[in-house]
Amino acid sequence: MTVATETSTTELLSALGLSADNPGAFDGEWIDTQGPALESVNPTTGEVIASIRTATATDYERVAAAAVEAFEAWRTWPAPQRGEVVRQLGLELRQHKEALGQLVTLEMGKILSEGLGEVQEMIDMVDLAVGMSRQLCGLSMHSERPEHRMTEQWHPLGPVGIITAFNFPVAVWAWNSTVAAICGDSMIWKPSAKTPLCALAVTRIAQKVLEANDAPPIFGLAIGDRHQVGGPLVADRRVPLISATGSVAMGRKVGEVVASRLGRSLLELGGNNGIIVMDDADLDLALRAVLFAAVGTAGQRCTTNRRLLLQKGIAPEMKERLKSAYASISIGDPLDPKILMGPLVDGRAVEDMKAALKVIEEQGGKVIYGGGTIDRPGFFVEPTLVEASGDMPVTCEETFAPILYLFEFDTLEEAIELHNSVPQGLSSAIFTTNLLSAERFLTAAGSDCGIANVNIGTSGAEIGGAFGGEKETGGGREAGSDSWKAYMRRQTCTINYGTELPLAQGVEFDVG
Ligand code: NAD
Repeated sequence: MTVATETSTTELLSALGLSADNPGAFDGEWIDTQGPALESVNPTTGEVIASIRTATATDYERVAAAAVEAFEAWRTWPAPQRGEVVRQLGLELRQHKEALGQLVTLEMGKILSEGLGEVQEMIDMVDLAVGMSRQLCGLSMHSERPEHRMTEQWHPLGPVGIITAFNFPVAVWAWNSTVAAICGDSMIWKPSAKTPLCALAVTRIAQKVLEANDAPPIFGLAIGDRHQVGGPLVADRRVPLISATGSVAMGRKVGEVVASRLGRSLLELGGNNGIIVMDDADLDLALRAVLFAAVGTAGQRCTTNRRLLLQKGIAPEMKERLKSAYASISIGDPLDPKILMGPLVDGRAVEDMKAALKVIEEQGGKVIYGGGTIDRPGFFVEPTLVEASGDMPVTCEETFAPILYLFEFDTLEEAIELHNSVPQGLSSAIFTTNLLSAERFLTAAGSDCGIANVNIGTSGAEIGGAFGGEKETGGGREAGSDSWKAYMRRQTCTINYGTELPLAQGVEFDVG
């Protein structure tokens, strides 16, 4: 089923409980928001899909107050019962996978298999979180004092603010919300203004599950601008954790405000991800991985491969193979299953790419493939290959578009130094058949990123591991491993089951 006509778009919206004009905030009920209208635009055609009445600061206040109240009730539910509600969310997501995946493609522009993949990632997160709901384990420690016991337990934290980027309009909510929910937290979601319909659709699905379980309205939503929603949320002292996904510039601002009120922030920011290809690499494997990592999602993943470091022996062959592979990428309507690359998200993204190409030229970079826009409705560009060198400052920035910088190097040491020379530290990879090179890449003196792969590209992480990056990427970790701890507060408890009151460190404090 493809969504090509106006009628089928209307059907799709209606299947997800949406219409041409939608309220933009949810606090257990849909609030009759009266803020300025926000238009959701289809990046494939430039046409408006539907409109949203945004939330005002007063609407935000309603959502925040409801989140505080919902938290007070939800935190008393046993964690496995909270897990049961999240399990049912997974059932609903399975039922709506096709429609929600199509909406992601329609509104954000990623190809349908990636749109569906994003919903699958939500489902996977649900399954992981359900398991976690029975494993929120603390440690027990031996006390130095006789007849004492020490233990560590984890409590729900409070309402969590979730700020999401446009490029993963539903999965990032799930990374946070499934785990926060089983941890006993309520949430206030502020999605990207570029993908509001996805947020509305997800919240409607979540609403159904909450109501079926008579659960408190933990999944709050407020769609609005920085002044009415973003700013008040970040500054809100009732919200102990702000989990923010987006650009480094956004993270800097948000992190500063949250730190000034001594709140916690979990920052998932921009990447500038490198792949090193050694002379001994399996080049077929490397080529396939680079193509998906550099061109997939039209270069709009935080984990997109932006820098390709080629050892000199294979550099000429890889460049030629890349050029012919780039020429065979089908570009067009992302709902068409034959298409591999859809549009950029909006006109501004196209302008940003053009501006970056100008700077590339000024700094001595050489475009060896692409570099243009595509003359058709919507926001289409060519995937682009650029021969670059380490002294081009533009290569240290994340341009959110399909531009791949190609570098050459002699030794692995040189490659690792070049690889680590950028301010971001999200994802990284090496292609080699040499065990020693692979292991060197993974040592403390190897990749400085939060994610380091061997013979796998930089994008497409599995949810079982902790996801996030170092340096300007913000240091946050979400999804698997022990990332759940960010959504809870730790309490160390010492219990005296004797009749004496010995003090720690042998301190004496006896009266009389
Ligand atoms: P963006 O920074 O423009 O916006 C992200 C979100 O932050 C949006 O909801 C936006 O409205 C909000 N925002 C911006 N300024 C704010 C402020 N001052 N206060 C409160 N909220 C504010 O990013 P984008 O263009 O939507 O997404 C692309 C960026 O996100 C890229 O840099 C990409 O690498 C990054 N990203 C990172 C990850 C990760 O996990 N590390 C995942 C996805 C995207």
